[in-house]
Amino acid sequence: MESGANSLYRCSNCRNPLALVEDLLSKNFIAKSGKAYMFQHAMNVVLGPKYDKQLITGRYSIADIFCSKCGEELGWKYVQAYDMKNRFKEGKFILEEIKMFQKY
Ligand SMILES: [Zn+2]
Repeated sequence: MESGANSLYRCSNCRNPLALVEDLLSKNFIAKSGKAYMFQHAMNVVLGPKYDKQLITGRYSIADIFCSKCGEELGWKYVQAYDMKNRFKEGKFILEEIKMFQKY
């Protein structure tokens, strides 16, 4: 795996690998810090307890995501969507752009 397959996003704080570029689904998300990306999978993250939250697009059960190495809060995971139109987000990860850097 020496080719482009190792392109990934890392924690901007400790450089822990967090997500693969190929698992990036969308860059059109907004978090409290600004832009955020949606990923199919995330690695080396720890999930906080899930809780209900009203977001701009609807109501969800989400869990905050923390870096497994440095403990930095990175974003959240959609655990459950209460609106049918948002069901596709279930199980997906949101990582804040400001918390990551991309390493090729
Ligand atoms: Zn970290």
